[in-house]
Amino acid sequence: MIDYHQPDTSGHFGRYGGSFVSETLTYAINELREAYARYKDDPAFLAEFHYELAHYVGRPSPIYHAARTSRELGGAQIYLKREDLNHTGAHKVNNVIGQAMLARRMGKPRIIAETGAGQHGVATATICARYGLECVVYMGSEDVKRQSPNVYRMKLLGATVVPVESGSKTLKDALNEAMRDWVAHVDNTFYIIGTVAGPHPYPMMVRDFQSVIGEECLQQMPEMLAAQGIATRQPDAVVACVGGGSNAMGIFYPYIPFENTRLIGVEAAGEGLDSGKHSASLQRGSSGVLHGNRTYVLQDANGQITETHSISAGLDYPGVGPEHAWLKDTGRAEYVGATDAEALAAFHHLCRAEGIIPALESSHAMAYAMKLAKTMRPDQSILVNLSGRGDKDIGTVADLDGVEFYDRPSMRGHVVKGAPTAGDKA
Ligand SMILES: *Cc1c(COP(=O)(O)O)cnc(C)c1O
Repeated sequence: MIDYHQPDTSGHFGRYGGSFVSETLTYAINELREAYARYKDDPAFLAEFHYELAHYVGRPSPIYHAARTSRELGGAQIYLKREDLNHTGAHKVNNVIGQAMLARRMGKPRIIAETGAGQHGVATATICARYGLECVVYMGSEDVKRQSPNVYRMKLLGATVVPVESGSKTLKDALNEAMRDWVAHVDNTFYIIGTVAGPHPYPMMVRDFQSVIGEECLQQMPEMLAAQGIATRQPDAVVACVGGGSNAMGIFYPYIPFENTRLIGVEAAGEGLDSGKHSASLQRGSSGVLHGNRTYVLQDANGQITETHSISAGLDYPGVGPEHAWLKDTGRAEYVGATDAEALAAFHHLCRAEGIIPALESSHAMAYAMKLAKTMRPDQSILVNLSGRGDKDIGTVADLDGVEFYDRPSMRGHVVKGAPTAGDKA
């Protein structure tokens, strides 16, 4: 068993992480650190967190043996951790509930968040609706255009969506704008970051909330393998996609001590790792500071953040959580890529062979797992974190496949008299 204690008290994972924030945010960050330190092991806080996960999110999420796929590949058995079955359709909600509970205890009635594809925005708007908190979501104006169903979902849930016009008008700009809002409203505002990035304590705190995924797997996998008559043990490999890195940290973290289990993060290789059109910060980036922490970032010779690309908006981020940078350098985790085309093929495979429409993000993990399985024996096992469902992606997939996709045109312009308009405040 590997003895693992990260980060240190100042939030460093080796040379990565830490807290690079302006003077004006120091107060808010310290207040958050103190609150998290106070509640992270508080039995009442943890009991409420697990109650919410069980009764609102629907945890534990099951593990499913993709038997047909495994048989066809002829190698290792592939198992899927079904985070796509969570309420709101992905792993993001686990973390949002934890942070929203903290906001309530800190007496902050106003929540802000950044979002790229809109998944974190929808999860945040959902929990704010349930807890009666004001919710403001920053979203790049390019993403607002590309992800209109999620923008409408957030409005239905009562959130205000603020389009961000600066920079490349995408996720990293939305994060900058949310930080600016936080500086201006620290007294009444809690910033819910959606991945294991940001200044300390965010990378640790988000990892802790998401590690419920891996904790469940530690119990479920040996039970599953024993029920199938395979020896009671943990999987030989755990595979997860990496955007900012929260679903991967959530499933990796409890497995870090188990040195016989390989941990493999799959980045978006876009049109190829050497095409210049990808989001593979760990494989093609270098050390730099982004959004309040030191990590691997995609930057040019002058330290300017470079443009990223992926078919999946949730992986399209030029940085990565600092703990992944540390796990890469120490060799405890491996990082590989899956291209747009490989992810799209895995997407279609899961639809047709297993009856599961996966998120395009999760399809990257599945694509690599299918390659890896062929190099392993049938008595070995691979656990894939199926981070989300793909309903949000069917328009993108239809476009990529050159299929025309009609969004109920006959309903356009149909108005229900007397119904409230989305976004109206009670
Ligand atoms: C947001 C998202 C991701 C990427 O974020 P991580 O922080 O890397 O997990 C992956 N899968 C789904 C379904 C998402 O919504």
